[in-house]
Amino acid sequence: MDLAIVDTTLITFQGEGLGVIEKGGLGIMGNEIAFVGKSDDLRGADEVIDGSGCVTMPGLIDSHAHTWLALLKGGAQDMPEIQWMKKGLEPFVNHMNKKDRIAGSKLGVLEGLRTGTTTFCEFSPEVKGYVENVYLPFGVRTVAVETLNEVVGVDARGLYELDRSIGEEGLKKADALVDEYKRSEMVYPGYGPQALDMVTIELLEEVKENAWDSKSDIHMHVAQGERERLQVEKRYGARTVKIMYDMGMLDEKLVAVHCHDTEIEEKGMLVENGVRMVGCPSSIGMIDGIVPPIHDLLSMGGEVGVGTDQAPGPGGHNMFKEMRNAALLTKIRDKDPTRLPSGDVLKLATIGGARTLGIQHLVGSLEVGKLADIITIDMLCANLTPSVFEPFHNFVATLVHSSTGKEVRDVIINGKEVMRKGEFVKIDEGHIIKDAQGRGKDLFKRGAKDWKDADGSLVKTNF
Ligand SMILES: [Zn+2]
Repeated sequence: MDLAIVDTTLITFQGEGLGVIEKGGLGIMGNEIAFVGKSDDLRGADEVIDGSGCVTMPGLIDSHAHTWLALLKGGAQDMPEIQWMKKGLEPFVNHMNKKDRIAGSKLGVLEGLRTGTTTFCEFSPEVKGYVENVYLPFGVRTVAVETLNEVVGVDARGLYELDRSIGEEGLKKADALVDEYKRSEMVYPGYGPQALDMVTIELLEEVKENAWDSKSDIHMHVAQGERERLQVEKRYGARTVKIMYDMGMLDEKLVAVHCHDTEIEEKGMLVENGVRMVGCPSSIGMIDGIVPPIHDLLSMGGEVGVGTDQAPGPGGHNMFKEMRNAALLTKIRDKDPTRLPSGDVLKLATIGGARTLGIQHLVGSLEVGKLADIITIDMLCANLTPSVFEPFHNFVATLVHSSTGKEVRDVIINGKEVMRKGEFVKIDEGHIIKDAQGRGKDLFKRGAKDWKDADGSLVKTNF
């Protein structure tokens, strides 16, 4: 073995339950998992990590994120959803340059890495820039989705004006991305029409065809909320799910993000047609005041992952927080404490996320032959102690509900140590934070006038 983790508690997500192995050992050869079992049966490794006092499990999978927005953390919240994008975010976003976006993405990915995320589904325009400047240099796995958006303004009817030529440009970039990375181990490219109100039907038809031709997935915000519903109903006289069904877009190629604004029959249509779904509880709770229908789709037999979405909301890119919020918000919404039990939630952020992103054959569980994306979590801290194995594994619940994510000690991606004993091996964390602080401060200053002129409700809050 090249690398081994010994004397640890493994959560493998194999077999019955969560596949917990007490006094477990895990061996890595190259970039693959080569041994999973009892520590005593694991012999010989060039480098050995003492995993005692730790849980060792697959790296977390953030199934939907726009990490570049991390530079605007805390910048748009406590306001009506209808204002959030145009009067909250955009006045600042319009002042972001390319370097700001990269700095924001580095900041967001850094937070995710520190809290155990090893795969991010990055949904962004010009996503190749993040692949080349953030994910590949950091050694972090990404599902890279090129955002396609044709909005150029708002017409007299209050409808978004759409420009086909922008969509075509975006599609060319998406096609090139898919072509370049289709055989990559670290980058899984996909198509990302932003939402039904922000692209034309013609573009969607093209995306559908290209995705099938290239065996890639389509990621799309679907039925997010009031803003989208009003736009879509005014333009087409129907609701998002029905229109997409009629277009033949509800199928196993589609990863539908959000799906809040769906009736029960529409949820059924999504699941029956093999659509995978991503819920983003922190982001959506804050910007829409909604609890994502994670439980609803799971209980119908749907495939569901969890994502952090965006930081300005204010969310962030900490998947432990997402797991907790997914469970807690659902229990409160349904007035039912049995909803989304801890074991199920842990799966959403690992093997469930992998299935949702179509990479379950590669990552998401500890299994011989899978790629070695692994984290260890130090359980010997006040908020996670005690850990017991009898009469049941209490640490499954403490991981979801008591961890801050900062207890993640080691992060291994594709067989390589990215973080060792809480310190990044190659990434210069201090520099990234310093750069983001300077750029963030400057950006808020540059956008201040536009933000005040937009006159969103936050302008009057004045804290
Ligand atoms: Zn999103």
